[in-house]
Amino acid sequence: MADATVEVNHDVCIVSGMCASLAPEIFDIDDDGLKLEVLKPTLPPELVDKARGAEACCPVEAIKVTTP
Ligand code: SF4
Repeated sequence: MADATVEVNHDVCIVSGMCASLAPEIFDIDDDGLKLEVLKPTLPPELVDKARGAEACCPVEAIKVTTP
């Protein structure tokens, strides 16, 4: 079975930091505060709900969680 994945559209992300606050295991803002990094583009099953929570809260809908 394929894994769940999470992607961020960096063209629309405004680096609000919301997702990194909600799910620091998955998202991180770089030290300059200028770029969001996805730490876990392939999601372990226990982090799927957290990723979906971040997806729902992103102010610009830049996060896309895909589950198999
Ligand atoms: S919540 Fe959305 S806009 Fe904010 S840093 Fe995460 S992906 Fe970017």
